[in-house]
Amino acid sequence: MQRLTLLGSTGSIGESTLDVVRLHPQRYNVFALTAHTRLDKLMEQAREFSPQYLVVADEADYTRATQLAEAKGINSEIIAGSQALEFVSAHEDVDTVMAAIVGAAGLLPTMAAARAGKKLLLANKEALVMSGQLFMDALESGQAQLLPIDSEHNAIFQCLPQDYVYGAPERKGIAKILLTGSGGPFLHTPCHELATVTPAQACAHPNWSMGRKISVDSATMMNKGLEFIEACWLFGLRAEQIEVVIHPQSVIHSMVQYTDGSVLAQLGNPDMRTPIAHALAFPERIASGVAPLDFSTMTDFTFQAPEFDRYPNLALAIEACQAGQYATTALNAANEIAVEAFLQGRLSFTGIADLNRKVLDALDSCELNSIDDIIGWDNEVRVLARQAVTQPSQSMLGT
Ligand code: NDP
Repeated sequence: MQRLTLLGSTGSIGESTLDVVRLHPQRYNVFALTAHTRLDKLMEQAREFSPQYLVVADEADYTRATQLAEAKGINSEIIAGSQALEFVSAHEDVDTVMAAIVGAAGLLPTMAAARAGKKLLLANKEALVMSGQLFMDALESGQAQLLPIDSEHNAIFQCLPQDYVYGAPERKGIAKILLTGSGGPFLHTPCHELATVTPAQACAHPNWSMGRKISVDSATMMNKGLEFIEACWLFGLRAEQIEVVIHPQSVIHSMVQYTDGSVLAQLGNPDMRTPIAHALAFPERIASGVAPLDFSTMTDFTFQAPEFDRYPNLALAIEACQAGQYATTALNAANEIAVEAFLQGRLSFTGIADLNRKVLDALDSCELNSIDDIIGWDNEVRVLARQAVTQPSQSMLGT
């Protein structure tokens, strides 16, 4: 029986994880569930899975959560705040942690799981993008096992040889990683119409059902950019060893090209329960609830190179990846502020990439040697990005 902490259980990945867990009550026991705003959903989950702990991210919600639990006859212990998130990640009774909080808020509890040597299922790519080498060091010092949940990285993981040597793809005859992406909802929209795209249009992904932040990131292809950076860290790759390929049908989740001309791909219906089930059970295989592919109905299977004019965020992320940690941490922070402003109607869709570019251009490179450095830098960049939202015409130099 594996005991699980689900960071971000009320989100899209959290719910898909519980769907898989529900199919295998003899294998998985839920130790802790965590939420931020959706306390009602957290209580529903608690009634079904009876975890030992329920965590609310904001201490101000503690009393309300306690009252809700009491009213519903829930016996789980309620704890609150960022230290409580770290507590349930690192707890000695926990075997596996699903890191599915969105954005920078997931960094500290995900790091806590890494340091505590858990089996860590990483959905929260922003944590790795923000902290890169420090995150990899934490995994090593805790002897944690990292399994990727992003469908692309999970696919790459499945297509790499079992004796893959981190950082040395050429030693196993690997020529290139082909990171696929659907291109999002605006693959064919004339570029001059992108400025007026609404949040509802941006969140309507053609193939995947996801949280709002990652949906917007998919529409701008910042998501692919963050995944590009994530792939470099997860597999020890250099930027030139990864190629982004647009595959609008989202059936191939990524590929590994070998020097002999072979290409190994992982395919499946676009449903996150497949990579979640793969990672939960690894190295075994379990049912995920996902329907098998029906090849007789697959009429189109297309591929194209990404147009960087259409997806300037993708180009920015690749540049940041080459520039180093200060740039990837900064890009992630600026992008979170920009996406939030877009979702609140304070920034246009094309303004997201403009803001990210403006913030990155205003920064000088710096060393980030500790998690405190990362958090300090992330905060500094957020101040700059918020300024750029409210005073778009002002120069950011000298701030
Ligand atoms: P959702 O927005 O659906 O869920 C986010 C989760 O994080 C919710 O449980 C939310 O709580 C919680 N949360 C939000 N803000 C905070 C905070 N400040 N402190 C603590 N908890 C917080 O996102 P997704 O499930 O779509 O994505 C989660 C992560 O997984 C992201 O990093 C995303 O990039 C990654 N991912 C998602 C995929 C998908 O298909 N959805 C695919 C691959 C990766 P509440 O709901 O209670 O407010």
